[in-house]
Amino acid sequence: MPPDQPSTINHQPFSDYHTHPQGHRVQPYSPQLLQPWVESARLRNLTDIAFTDHDRYHAGVDFDEIKRLREANPDVQIRAGIELDNDPVHSGPGRRWVEDHWDELDFVLGSVHFLDRPDQMFDSVPEGAAQFAGREIDAIYADYFRRVREMAASGLVDCLAHFDLIKIHGHRPSGEVRALAEETLDFVATRGLAIELSTAGWRKPVGELYPSDDLIESAKSKGIPFTTASDAHSHVQLAENYARLAEKITALGISEVCVFERHRRETRAIT
Ligand SMILES: [Zn+2]
Ligand SMILES: [Zn+2]
Repeated sequence: MPPDQPSTINHQPFSDYHTHPQGHRVQPYSPQLLQPWVESARLRNLTDIAFTDHDRYHAGVDFDEIKRLREANPDVQIRAGIELDNDPVHSGPGRRWVEDHWDELDFVLGSVHFLDRPDQMFDSVPEGAAQFAGREIDAIYADYFRRVREMAASGLVDCLAHFDLIKIHGHRPSGEVRALAEETLDFVATRGLAIELSTAGWRKPVGELYPSDDLIESAKSKGIPFTTASDAHSHVQLAENYARLAEKITALGISEVCVFERHRRETRAIT
């Protein structure tokens, strides 16, 4: 973004670093698939977007298509990314793919979508809620954050997605979530990773931003940088609820977010 960014978009997030052009299946990258995302970005005053399809659909990712898209749309920064998760079935090949293409990728999101069941993402709505039935919620939270630390330790991610996804169905721990997450946030800070402010939580049963305000405050106090994200699975969902996110960012006193180019982090002012 140029330094003379017009004041009309002050306080408005200008980036979306969590998007799924392929949705939930392999759809090879093409102008027909990707161009609508750029149009959508322009309509919403976004100047920086990252494609972060799930690693299990890496076969559809085409770096040459991204290059052509950049050439056709020089006014929007388009980052090549992936969302790497802890899928017990697919994440082995996913990790190898990330390693093989590290230098072509700008940005890797790390996610925890799986707990004990290898065949079902716990964040499936509504089916995943069954994984919480009859279990001690504090223990599930502790287990989830342990897995987040494992992902953070992988050395293959730049940013952690939906940091407190474990709340998705509305289950709450008995005490302060901040205490449960403290060790993990310290670890994220030590590793120099970012976390995202994701509006996706607002469209899920929990109806709350990822992460919660108290976790954002804690992350801020530890110097952890933020990206802004919608986790859009369609171009019409890009930057969803960003007006609400802008209010939240202002209320929490966040004045900058980060963007990534070839894994190199840069900080940009948003206020
Ligand atoms: Zn995810
Ligand atoms: Zn996602």
